[in-house]
Amino acid sequence: MKIHKEQIEVIRNKKGFIIDMDGVIYHGNKLLAGAGEFIGWLVSEKKRFVFLTNSSERTPKELQEKLSRLGIKVNKDVFYTSALATAMFLNSQKPRGSAYIIGEAGLINALYNVGYTMNNVNPDYVVVGESRSYSYERIEHAVNLVLAGAKLIGTNPDLTGPTENGIIPATKALISPIELSTGRNAYFVGKPNPLMMRNALKKLKCNREETLIIGDRMDTDIVAGIESEIDTCLVLSGITTREMLSTFPYQPRFIIEGVKDLMEG
Ligand SMILES: [Mg+2]
Repeated sequence: MKIHKEQIEVIRNKKGFIIDMDGVIYHGNKLLAGAGEFIGWLVSEKKRFVFLTNSSERTPKELQEKLSRLGIKVNKDVFYTSALATAMFLNSQKPRGSAYIIGEAGLINALYNVGYTMNNVNPDYVVVGESRSYSYERIEHAVNLVLAGAKLIGTNPDLTGPTENGIIPATKALISPIELSTGRNAYFVGKPNPLMMRNALKKLKCNREETLIIGDRMDTDIVAGIESEIDTCLVLSGITTREMLSTFPYQPRFIIEGVKDLMEG
């Protein structure tokens, strides 16, 4: 079942594109078919686009370098991560606050850049993102800070993440021990939280009608688009198969095999 030419034209006529990366542009360290051409087309057609990722691990500069290694050159300001969204959210809730962070450079830099300070004693927030520097001591410390009044924030609600070697525990899995030990529920900022979509639209300077979200996950990318009333395009080059589609109570507006389909004809 191939997408109709008319539908492809609707997609190509959009002005703004919110693009998920893993499963759409690359898988691990492998570039997906047509991705280079698609990004080249976005640039040459002067489309507005933003790469949206729920991962809070990498800084925009690190993401730029990753794409560059795969042969794709883009400006670092086209990336919008859940770490940047978390920083924006916290700064709107409590400007120039303080945080105890369990996370990597992407998250730490994002909070520094909005004027947050790091605080191990009495922070306003405990913020958790993907991290390899995760330890019993840090969890123990975070639990006591939350019990003392710090608010608990997760950068994204992903339970696991795909890698070339299988899966890795992601933010929701890492924050659960803190939730269970304190009896408090974390607030999660990344997709499908519509905050992420609204911020992406602001970054694009586009309205909902002229924008399309492209992603490979029904429970984050597609639901986020639907709840923000942005047209959705599911790619089958990632985690979702055509058979899985019927198990969801909502459907994307467009379904393509991969971004290569948008470059044909
Ligand atoms: Mg994805």
